[in-house]
Amino acid sequence: MRSSRQRDVVLETVRSTFEHPTAEWIFRRARKRLPRVGLGTIYRNLKSLVDEGLIREVRSADEAVRYDGNIGEHYHIRCISCGRVSDLPVSVDRAIEQRAHHATNYAIVGHEVEVHGVCPGCQRASLSDRESFSRAS
Ligand SMILES: [Zn+2]
Ligand SMILES: [Zn+2]
Repeated sequence: MRSSRQRDVVLETVRSTFEHPTAEWIFRRARKRLPRVGLGTIYRNLKSLVDEGLIREVRSADEAVRYDGNIGEHYHIRCISCGRVSDLPVSVDRAIEQRAHHATNYAIVGHEVEVHGVCPGCQRASLSDRESFSRAS
């Protein structure tokens, strides 16, 4: 199997979703089109796609690295309950880079923002948990 085919499938898989998938998710999805592919091959292709700037990594301290097919500048919002990562539909704040430069004299090359919260689905789930708990007691 040509490696460029594997690379194309990995790239298409990352671009096919707004869910910011993990390598494991990409592996499971890509295997439907590449039945013999291994997880190591998926990682290798993800790394070279990141190096080429075609996708980007979304990193968070204690979570698996996620991958993003949207390489335009944007912020993320992460649910602290289910771990989902979504694009945050607010505009990128250039002023913070100016303030950071003035505060530190760093030559600023960019910044990232990840907002944390509880997604609507998890809010509903915890609400219905409480309801069933109060019915049971
Ligand atoms: Zn959630
Ligand atoms: Zn994103």
